[in-house]
Amino acid sequence: MEFYSNTMNLNFAGDVGYLTFKEFEKYKFIKHAFSTKLGGVSKNEFSTMNLSFTRGDNEEDVVKNYEIFSSALNFDINKIFRTSQVHGTNIKMITENDISENSCLKTNVFEKTDGLITNLQGIVLQTFHADCPAIFMFDKVKKVVGVAHAGWRGTVAKVSENLLSAFLENYNSDKNDIICGLGPGIGKCCYEVSEDILPYFENLNLENYFSYSQKNDEKAFVDLLEVNRQVLINAGLNKNNIFKSDVCTMCNKDLLFSHRATYGKRGNNSAFIKLL
Ligand SMILES: [Zn+2]
Repeated sequence: MEFYSNTMNLNFAGDVGYLTFKEFEKYKFIKHAFSTKLGGVSKNEFSTMNLSFTRGDNEEDVVKNYEIFSSALNFDINKIFRTSQVHGTNIKMITENDISENSCLKTNVFEKTDGLITNLQGIVLQTFHADCPAIFMFDKVKKVVGVAHAGWRGTVAKVSENLLSAFLENYNSDKNDIICGLGPGIGKCCYEVSEDILPYFENLNLENYFSYSQKNDEKAFVDLLEVNRQVLINAGLNKNNIFKSDVCTMCNKDLLFSHRATYGKRGNNSAFIKLL
């Protein structure tokens, strides 16, 4: 499988392949990963590392995938907390109160939540993606980590800014200490949007985030990562601390689950971040 990226590494732990931001490597107190299709046991359109229980895959296979992935990445499977996403902006803070002796894969899920944040070591935060970009964020000084799901609805509703606010309000983070990784997700190369969606983006008053196709100027292509980047800069994040992935899920459909590339017949990739 061909893979090339300026911004992300494709790493392997056994057969499990996962992506990481090159710029995050120097921060040894976090572990982050964006899962690929590689290294799991699921079949057909879920082949092989599908981490979603809600897309029709065999539950036993998904549990096995979690076991394989957790073991490969050194995650405690009972300390993985995941979202149940609704293309919203709600960010859930994980505290000691959310952890009990009975915490496990089955119970550690938050409904109507598109992002998670914590300052607890060992907790693994997880969001789900199959074209919708991931937003990784951490505070390099106060040692706080967060992750969110930002499809077009979440993007224009500023889920990225909500995630940033969760750092500022709950942990008193300094904006200058926040590091952010945007993506992977569907790239500006592939993310064609219909005309009725464009006004949602226009309302944000941003620049240089969309282009018309050379072949057919009816078709507009939006750069979702760029929209999120500008939203975060306008919210006060240092632009030098924001890193955009150049890995497009649709262009890399053999490596990553892509909703558009498969007309919705697909499993889910996941974004993970953990404070060590
Ligand atoms: Zn693409």
